[in-house]
Amino acid sequence: PTEPEHVRSTSHDAPARPELHPTMLRRFLAYYKPERGLLIADTVCALVIAGIDLAFPSILRALTGGLFMEGRNAILGALGYIALGLVVMYLVRMGCRYFVSAQGHIMGARMESRMRQDLFDQYERFCFTYFDRVNSGDMMSRVVNDLFDICEAAHHVPEWIIICGVEIIGAFIILATISPVLTGVMALVTAVFVVIMVRQNLRMREVFADNRRKISEVNSQLQDSLAGMRVVKSFANEGTERAKFRHSNARYLDSKVAQYHAMGAYQATSALMTGALFTVIVVVGGLLVAQGSMTAVDMATFALYISLFTTPIETLVNSTENIQKAIAGFKRMDEVMLTMPDIEDAPDARPLKVTDGAIEYRDVCFSYEDEELGSDRAGRPVIDHLNLSIRPGETIALVGPSGGGKTTTCSLLPRFYDVTSGAITIDGQDVRSVTQESLRQAIGLVQQDVYLFDGTIGENIAYGRPDATPDEIVEAARRANIHAFIESLPDGYDTVVGERGSRLSGGQKQRVAIARVFLKDPAILILDEATSALDNESEEAVQESLERLARDRTTIIIAHRLSTIKNADEIATVERGRVVERGTHEELLERDGTYARYYRMQFEGARAGSSLR
Ligand code: ADP
Ligand code: MG
Repeated sequence: PTEPEHVRSTSHDAPARPELHPTMLRRFLAYYKPERGLLIADTVCALVIAGIDLAFPSILRALTGGLFMEGRNAILGALGYIALGLVVMYLVRMGCRYFVSAQGHIMGARMESRMRQDLFDQYERFCFTYFDRVNSGDMMSRVVNDLFDICEAAHHVPEWIIICGVEIIGAFIILATISPVLTGVMALVTAVFVVIMVRQNLRMREVFADNRRKISEVNSQLQDSLAGMRVVKSFANEGTERAKFRHSNARYLDSKVAQYHAMGAYQATSALMTGALFTVIVVVGGLLVAQGSMTAVDMATFALYISLFTTPIETLVNSTENIQKAIAGFKRMDEVMLTMPDIEDAPDARPLKVTDGAIEYRDVCFSYEDEELGSDRAGRPVIDHLNLSIRPGETIALVGPSGGGKTTTCSLLPRFYDVTSGAITIDGQDVRSVTQESLRQAIGLVQQDVYLFDGTIGENIAYGRPDATPDEIVEAARRANIHAFIESLPDGYDTVVGERGSRLSGGQKQRVAIARVFLKDPAILILDEATSALDNESEEAVQESLERLARDRTTIIIAHRLSTIKNADEIATVERGRVVERGTHEELLERDGTYARYYRMQFEGARAGSSLR
C-alpha cells in the first residue's frame, strides 16, 4: 500500500526545465531574453546603418539635380558643409558597424554558449536507459558541431532582417516617388525571383538537416573506433575500421556535394535577379526617358538604388543559408531538450535517511525493453518477482549463472533503472520517494571495469568526495592498499593516469576505485565482480581492502569465484531474475542445490588445475 506507483507519472510534470514553449521558434527566441539590452542596441545601430545607406543616393540626387546646376559659387559655398555632413554621417555609420559586428557576434556567441550548456545539463539529467540507447558520438556532435552556426544566425538574422528589410522597403518607396511605372515593373520581376528562391530555400533545409545527420555519423564512427582502438589493434582490424570510416566520410561528402549544388543553384538565381533588374531599368527606363516621362538623372538614381536593393536581397538570400543551418542545428538540440528523463525526483522527494542500512526488495519485476518501442522482445522480464531482504550491516553474496540478473538487481537499488512493479526500500523508504542525490550518496559501487578520468591519481581518488583534504585522500589510499604504490611513483599523487587510466594496471585501477569509495564512506556497498578481472596476486591485495571497505556497511557482493564469498553472512542464488535459494555457505552446501553444484564444480576444477601443475 505504501508503494508510490504515482511517482512515474507525476515525475513527468515536475517543473524540470524552464522556458518550454510550445513551438521551436519560441524556444529559440527565449534565448534572446537575457540579451534584450544588447539586442535593442544592436537593432538601433542596424537601423542607423540602413538609414544612412538609404539616404546617400537621395542626397547625391538632390546635389546633382539641384545644387550642382546652380553654378560655381553656390557649389563652393555649400561644399564645406556637405563634406562635414558626410564625414559625420560616415563616422556614425562606422561606429554602428563596429557595434553591430563586435557586440552582435558576442551576443550570438553567448546564446550559443548557453544553449551548449543547457544541452549538456540536459544530458546530465538523463538516466541509464537513455545512454543505453544513444551513441556518444551523436551526443558529441549535437553539443559541438550542431551549435556552431547558432552564433552567426542568432545575431545576423535580426540585423539582416532589419537592415535589409528597411533598405528594400525604403528603396521601393523612394523609387516609387520617382517613377511608379518603373518601380512597378521592378517589383513584379523581383516577386517572380523571390518565389523561385523561396522554393530553392526549402530544398536547402532538407540538405542541411541531412548534413547534420551525416556529420553525426562520422562522429559516432570516429568515437567508436578511437575508443576501441586497443581492440582494433589487437585484432589487427585497422583495415575494417578504415573502411567503415571511409564509408561514413564518403556519405558526409555526398551530403556536402548535394549542399553545394543546392547553394550554387540558389546563388545563380540571385545573380540572375540582379541582371534582370538592371536590364529592366535600361529597357523600361530608356523607354520612359525617350517618352519624356522621366529624366536621365532619375534613371541614373534608379541604377544607384538598384545595388542598394539587390545587395540586401542577396544578403537575405545568403542569410537563409545561415538560418537553415542554424535551424537544422537547433532542431537537433531541441529534440534532446524535449526528451523527458525517464527517472526524475518525485516532486515531494525527501533526502534519504539511512539509520541502519536495511534493504528490502519486495516482489520486484523489471525489464530493460521499453514497452512503448514495441520491440519483439518487449517486456521480457529480467527480474521476475524477486524478493530479498538484507539486514543492516550484513554482507550478502549474489551468485548464479551469467545473465541471471545479478547486476540488474544491483542497478535497481541506486535507481539506475526503475522497477516495473514491486518496490525497493532502504530503511523503509522507497527508493523512488527520496532524492536521487541522497540515494546515490548512500551507496558505494565498485564494478569490474573501472572508469578513471583523465587527470592525476589524487584527483581520481578525490572524485569520491571533491572536498576531501590531501590527508583524507592519503588515508583512503592507505586503506585501499594503494598508498605505497602511489608513493613509489616519481610524481606520487600527481601522477597523470592517462585517458581511462590507461597507465595503470587493472589491480591498481581497481584499488583507486576502492579508495574513492572509502572517501565517499557510503552506508551501503555494492561490489559487482570487483575482483573478477584481476590475477590472483592483485586479487589478494584488492580482496583485503574490499573486506575492510565492507566492514560495518550493508554489502551486496557479486563474485563468480566462490572462494571470495565464502565468508559472506549469507548467500543468495539468483537465476532467471529470481532468488531460488538462500542461506549460509554451510546451509547451502547441505541443501545440495544450485549453489552446492556450482561450488563442487569450481572446487573440483581448482583441484584438477592444481594436480596438473
Ligand atoms: P548477471 O549480472 O547476473 O550476469 P545481468 O543483470 O547483467 O546478469 O543481465 C541480465 C539480463 O539482462 C541479461 O539477459 C542481459 O542480456 C540483460 N541486460 C543487461 N543489461 C542490459 C541493458 N542495459 N539493456 C538491455 N538488456 C540488458
Ligand atoms: Mg553481472
